[in-house]
Amino acid sequence: MRAQYNTHAGNVRLVGGAVGLDFVNTVNSMLVAQPKEYLETYADLLTWSVHAQACTSAEAAQLHQLAAAQPAAAHACLERGWRVRASLFRLLTSAPQAEDVRCLNTELQTTPNRQQLAISADQLVWAAAQPLRLDRPLWSVVWSAADILTSAQHQQVRQCAGAGCSWLFLDTTGGRRHWCSMQDCGNRAKAQRHYQRLRATD
Ligand SMILES: [Zn+2]
Repeated sequence: MRAQYNTHAGNVRLVGGAVGLDFVNTVNSMLVAQPKEYLETYADLLTWSVHAQACTSAEAAQLHQLAAAQPAAAHACLERGWRVRASLFRLLTSAPQAEDVRCLNTELQTTPNRQQLAISADQLVWAAAQPLRLDRPLWSVVWSAADILTSAQHQQVRQCAGAGCSWLFLDTTGGRRHWCSMQDCGNRAKAQRHYQRLRATD
């Protein structure tokens, strides 16, 4: 059976090209009043984190236990994630505003230094040599997003051209990529053009 996409945190499409952008893409869309939220609970955040390699599955198993012991702290961590996600969206798509820089700096100050590499799904990922904390998924997000914001990669960040789609991705094609994914927004735009052509020839 074909996998269902875009239904929950564990199978949301990873189109960003970097975990910092994929995290911003856990809501669809930033542009509408009632967006589809993929991260409704801390458990969703962990599910997404394993899917997007923001933490390892071994870490997520430990974090589930931490969260069970401290549910209020786990939810507060999720709320921090929502806040930094909104700030990252603005920082990545427009000129930096002081309030958003403050929000990101607050996260950076609590995020440990990258001290070692770990293997996650046959790839190397940054890790910190210190005990796990509930905000572990946010470390990967903040490391990735801060790298993009302070490097030439920032120039490659594009917002999907699909109507009402706010998803971000790194365009490595030199400006030829317009859609978060051809299967979603790309196809819809193609169908729309086809429909308009048919109407024009009526
Ligand atoms: Zn899109």
